[in-house]
Amino acid sequence: MTFKATILTLYPDMFPGHLGHSLAGRALERGQWAIETVQIRDFAADKHRSVDDTPAGGGAGMVLKPDVLARAIDSVADDVRPRLLMSPRGRPLTQARVRELAAGEGVVVVCGRFEGVDQRVIEARALEEVSIGDYILSGGEPAALTLLDAVVRILPGVMGNDLSGLHESFEGGLLEHPHYTRPQLFEGREIPAILTSGNHAAIEAWREQQALALTRERRPDLLPQPVKK
Ligand code: SAH
Repeated sequence: MTFKATILTLYPDMFPGHLGHSLAGRALERGQWAIETVQIRDFAADKHRSVDDTPAGGGAGMVLKPDVLARAIDSVADDVRPRLLMSPRGRPLTQARVRELAAGEGVVVVCGRFEGVDQRVIEARALEEVSIGDYILSGGEPAALTLLDAVVRILPGVMGNDLSGLHESFEGGLLEHPHYTRPQLFEGREIPAILTSGNHAAIEAWREQQALALTRERRPDLLPQPVKK
């Protein structure tokens, strides 16, 4: 089974974008994952091929029309893949959700534009809103590429060394320990001696302690929270 992404967008040329390069790009060429795009505009009904209209109730910007988007969604074979809508109002994407998605058969991803999407199509097509962070992009395409990047890199066989995913930030619930490589001396700074000691157990313990200290300092929210009385 090949992981397949179907992207609904007004800008199909933005895909596969950076995912056509490096490890993800090679995996794409090898057929270890697949991507197809659906041009939402192809499902417009009027002679101007309009996909957006002014917001009901007034206000700035435009809103993606529900009927056009619904037809685009319905053109995709109804399968077991989750249907996602990239949206700053969505549930923030986590490595845990990325893992779940990577374990499935693929994703159908709707990329919003303008002020967003008519609420009724979100409900009628049961779209799962996913956010990549608390900031506003101009469109869902870079968000979809970000989500796919996170998923594709952990698909079996995509990363050269499958083990290197194991110690990553978040995988163990902590931020990752710092990294060093040669030269031994850089602008007066040495590689911590323990890392060149050859004592693997001590190195492992040092890395764990560093990860814990870094997480405490930068992201205490990631640590198990004390039970409130
Ligand atoms: N008016 C909307 C923002 C629209 S931005 C609001 O305030 O909620 C236009 C499109 O960009 C959105 O429909 C969505 O698809 C995408 N987008 C913007 N920021 C995003 C984010 N943080 N995560 C995921 N998608 C985002």
